[in-house]
Amino acid sequence: MARTDEKSICPVCFTIWPIEQARKGYGTCPDCDSEAIGIELVPLDQFLKDETVESLRELLAKWEKAEGFYESYKQAKSKRIEAVIKMREAIERPRG
Ligand SMILES: [Zn+2]
Repeated sequence: MARTDEKSICPVCFTIWPIEQARKGYGTCPDCDSEAIGIELVPLDQFLKDETVESLRELLAKWEKAEGFYESYKQAKSKRIEAVIKMREAIERPRG
């Protein structure tokens, strides 16, 4: 698995970026309107520490009920949230 400390994540759209993106100074997501609402990229390892599998699943369930978004964006973001849940699960299950 890729090292999570080399990545950052946008808490708005769940796009994962190289950590350099968060350190560039502006630190917001080039992919969505996170800059407009003042939400900055978070280091992925920190994000995974702050969230639980349960909180992420709740977030995904809420997102799937959200209305007013393009279907393609909804599906893409759902897939990204699912990928983050898998990463979080991998942390909870110690290997070996
Ligand atoms: Zn974003």
